[in-house]
Amino acid sequence: MRRSRGYDPLHHSSENSALLVQILDTAREGGLAVFDLDGCLFDNRPRQVQIIREYASLYHCWELYKVEIHDFEDWSFPRTLKKAGVPDDVISLHYPALRQYWESCFFTSAYVRYDHAMPGAAELVRRVYEAGMKVIYLTGRDHQMREGTEQSLRRFGFPYDEPGVRLLTKPRADMEDTAFKEEAMETLAAYGQVRIYLDNEPSNVNLYKKYHADALVVFVETDHSPRPVEPLSSIPWLRSFLARPI
Ligand SMILES: [Mg+2]
Repeated sequence: MRRSRGYDPLHHSSENSALLVQILDTAREGGLAVFDLDGCLFDNRPRQVQIIREYASLYHCWELYKVEIHDFEDWSFPRTLKKAGVPDDVISLHYPALRQYWESCFFTSAYVRYDHAMPGAAELVRRVYEAGMKVIYLTGRDHQMREGTEQSLRRFGFPYDEPGVRLLTKPRADMEDTAFKEEAMETLAAYGQVRIYLDNEPSNVNLYKKYHADALVVFVETDHSPRPVEPLSSIPWLRSFLARPI
């Protein structure tokens, strides 16, 4: 099973640059460019670290301060803590409460403000928009997270308060992400034809490739759910939004 290798926002390679060029070339054809947010246009790891450090401070669990953004490779909390060097007994003692604290913070407008845009992501989306596409942000975040999400999109320079740009959020937090993104296809069809689709969840890219075979569907390689699904072999992988080496 081919799994993503975790975030590498400063990655540069000729293959990666060629894919960015292909995205811009496709943008000239018009239609819809659909972008996922978490783990795609935005790096969520600062939000994760913030929540863990708040918990560490509140409950005097100083070992949790060892967790840094590079320790997040997937969605497994225990694995992340272990990688950071948090002792096993501390993990088993604090994990249930930490998980509960995390859940009360992570899915809120207040905390999405800790995320930052992936380097080069806002520039790419703006260029896609300026080439003549409509831009849709299609996210598993729910309606309650709209306010913080809108602020983040504006703050990092993504096209937002402009004609032909829309943010689609989930009506209910308990709705499964892929099911929501499947349902959203009906709404998208009213706006235009999906020509570009970027997401870091294998099930979502596979779904969009199935329904939009001619679109440029791109798997963004950061982290994703532990579901045993692999992106279809016809789907290219993007590791970063950097067009030039730094
Ligand atoms: Mg995502």
